[in-house]
Amino acid sequence: MYTLSTKDEKLGPIMSRNFDIAVFEGDGIGPEITQPAVAILQKLADSAAGYDLTLTAHPAGAAHYAKTGESLPQASLDAAGQADAILLSAMGLPDVRYDDGTEISPQIDLRKAFNLFAGVRPVRVAAGQRTPLKIPDGREIDFVLIRESTEGLFYSQGTGTVTQDDARETLRITRDVSEKLFRFAFQLATDRKARGLGPGRVTCVDKANVFRAFAFFRSIFDAEAKAYPDLIADHAYVDATALWMVQKPWDFDVLVTENMFGDILSDLGAGLMGGLGVAPSADIGLEQAVFQPCHGSAPDIAGQGKANPMAMILSAAMMLEWLGLKHEVPEMCGDGARLRAAVEGVMAEGKTVTADLGGQASTAETGAAVMAAL
Ligand code: ATP
Repeated sequence: MYTLSTKDEKLGPIMSRNFDIAVFEGDGIGPEITQPAVAILQKLADSAAGYDLTLTAHPAGAAHYAKTGESLPQASLDAAGQADAILLSAMGLPDVRYDDGTEISPQIDLRKAFNLFAGVRPVRVAAGQRTPLKIPDGREIDFVLIRESTEGLFYSQGTGTVTQDDARETLRITRDVSEKLFRFAFQLATDRKARGLGPGRVTCVDKANVFRAFAFFRSIFDAEAKAYPDLIADHAYVDATALWMVQKPWDFDVLVTENMFGDILSDLGAGLMGGLGVAPSADIGLEQAVFQPCHGSAPDIAGQGKANPMAMILSAAMMLEWLGLKHEVPEMCGDGARLRAAVEGVMAEGKTVTADLGGQASTAETGAAVMAAL
């Protein structure tokens, strides 16, 4: 456990606003990638005039469960609820499981506890960034996948029924959550359009041709779309979306979809960006938000100091932007954008590359390169 305040209170500027960040270092490579992200956040806040950060680590995860029988202690949950934002690396270990055989996943518990319905997964390939696709001249991959994160096929997680011959899980889609989700998507597209990042298009990704639940999902989307006449609202089936994410991802702006579809498509999005090691994410609700990389705890490379910290650092950048927008601290938004640009600069330069992307740089060297670029 640690608590780090980014400024000496006696020296800090009087107008500076302090934000409490609950940090979950997690399992596997979690602590290794948290270290550079926290150091960078501290450095940014140290030199900021308008904000401070107090970063406090809290216990949770599979290793903690193995030691104590608790995966997310009540005190950690309470601290997360009281914090201004939550920064989480990755949790879960394949060998540590609940009695029913499922993996320990407090990150999913946090999404449910704080109603973090909007899973935001930016898919962006900056100049010089590794991607398996050949991007035609004049085209750019820069879209956002929004994955509903509290219901869908994850609704019955832990309560599905399994008998000798029959296994059942329940998919649930509610009007209340879907309305909030679509509003979030349309507002994001409005913001991206205003900043020149997209044409203002929201695509509802579903399987409305087969399942009634998705026809319901789509009908709510269409009703919400009416409030945004300046945006383009269209639909795509999830299977076709997987195809188009490979064939013409530059056509997308904002995609919004159900939990399980989003889970799968966001890994495909990470593949477009060169790998899980560079794919950030956020799970956002009306009040609280968790920022964490798309990847898991990567136990196969844990403890070797070679995990790629970029996804974690980009998630920290998203956190700064979210806090800055929510609390109207432009300097924080600026620092978030500056941090993302620093990561993209290091990737474009191609000198500091971790093993997952074909290089030999360590986690610490990569963090240091981002710090230097800042
Ligand atoms: P989860 O189900 O929790 O998302 P997962 O089982 O899909 O996890 P990950 O832990 O994400 O799997 O790992 C998948 C692969 O990607 C592994 O080979 C892992 O080493 C690699 N990987 C994931 N994150 C990173 C990273 N930050 N740096 C380097 N390699 C990574």
